Amino acid sequence: GPDIIPVATATGAYDVIAGAGALEAAATRFQEMFPRGEAIIVTDTNVAGLHLDRVRGALRQVGIECEPVIAAPGEGQKSFSGIEALTDALAHAGVERGDTIIALGGGVVGDLTGFAAAIYKRGIGFVQMPTTLLAQADSSVGGKTGINTRAGKNMVGAFHPPRLVVADAAFLDTLPKRELRAGYAEILKAALIGDAALFDRLEAAGDGIYTPETLQPALTSAIRFKAGVVARDEKEAGERALLNLGHTFGHAFEAEAPGQMTHGEAVAAGLALAFRYSAQRGDCPQADADRVAAHLRTAGLPDGPDAVPGGPFDAARLVDRMRHDKKNSGGTITLVLARSIGDAFIAPGMDANDIERFLKSQM
Ligand code: NAD
Ligand code: ZN
Repeated sequence: GPDIIPVATATGAYDVIAGAGALEAAATRFQEMFPRGEAIIVTDTNVAGLHLDRVRGALRQVGIECEPVIAAPGEGQKSFSGIEALTDALAHAGVERGDTIIALGGGVVGDLTGFAAAIYKRGIGFVQMPTTLLAQADSSVGGKTGINTRAGKNMVGAFHPPRLVVADAAFLDTLPKRELRAGYAEILKAALIGDAALFDRLEAAGDGIYTPETLQPALTSAIRFKAGVVARDEKEAGERALLNLGHTFGHAFEAEAPGQMTHGEAVAAGLALAFRYSAQRGDCPQADADRVAAHLRTAGLPDGPDAVPGGPFDAARLVDRMRHDKKNSGGTITLVLARSIGDAFIAPGMDANDIERFLKSQM
């Protein structure tokens, strides 16, 4: 049956049910969460067309009728107007304090619905039903919710943990291969930060990584890893910043060519760069950096800047983006670097000029 991964943080404790049959395994939990026998499901048009009927059917089996609220797909929904439309829809549907709503979709639906749940009537419950690999491996766990503003991505939000996460394997059957690879980059990230044994298994699986037999246990390991990190450091006072491995570089690519690459493609190149830079500085064996790059190629992901869609990129402009990343200030840059595969560390105060020289050498 599916795996059950407990997550315990200061703001809430919940389970992640992951794998084949997760939806059915969650049914009894739903009966407690929806005592009135009604549930609002927030989703987007893509996911509604593919998975809403099955989810409604599973809930109907346990006596719960669902009313869908269906948004347009895409990052644009994570906006003040998106949150306004959603909270209006919740009011229109008569959602009350103490109620719980369901977010069925990728990270966009999860972040938007979670933030709506955080602020609607000063806070209601929500269930994450992540349907992309990225959302199952990363965004549905950890309690971060929010929207984008003119000032940048995820600028406004709240920590609002879900009451339950249902990561059903069958959702992934309809996911485009490019989105699957994007989510895989976050699984790989978890392995590279702190689970060397997971990396060894993925490396050994070679191009079999996308088969359910390999992917599902890897996903569970990645969720377990993130659950541990957020349990120890929910509000990112320290350790949680390790989850930014590959992301300072990755966000710079995304900012330079918005919409041209998936987040996972940008992060993949960022992971390769973080290991190569670590090796160049003498922090990490070159052999580890080479293994990371080789595995990224096997996974069909970029292993450096030249493989990122939307390039070529300019080193000085990338460093400028990195300097203005919301997690950086002043002339220095905080990077996540590595001592080896599975042993990342936070490196504050990195010299921007040195990073620029390194990036130039990688173009
Ligand atoms: P997404 O939600 O936009 O989904 C990608 C596309 O796949 C969409 O078009 C969607 O409609 C479609 N889709 C979803 N499920 C599908 C399925 N099962 N079959 C076919 N198509 C499907 O993007 P995403 O990659 O899931 O999430 C990205 C978002 O997550 C970003 O906004 C990012 O900021 C956020 N995020 C949040 C956190 C966090 O901790 N809260 C962490 C990482 C990322
Ligand atoms: Zn990410």
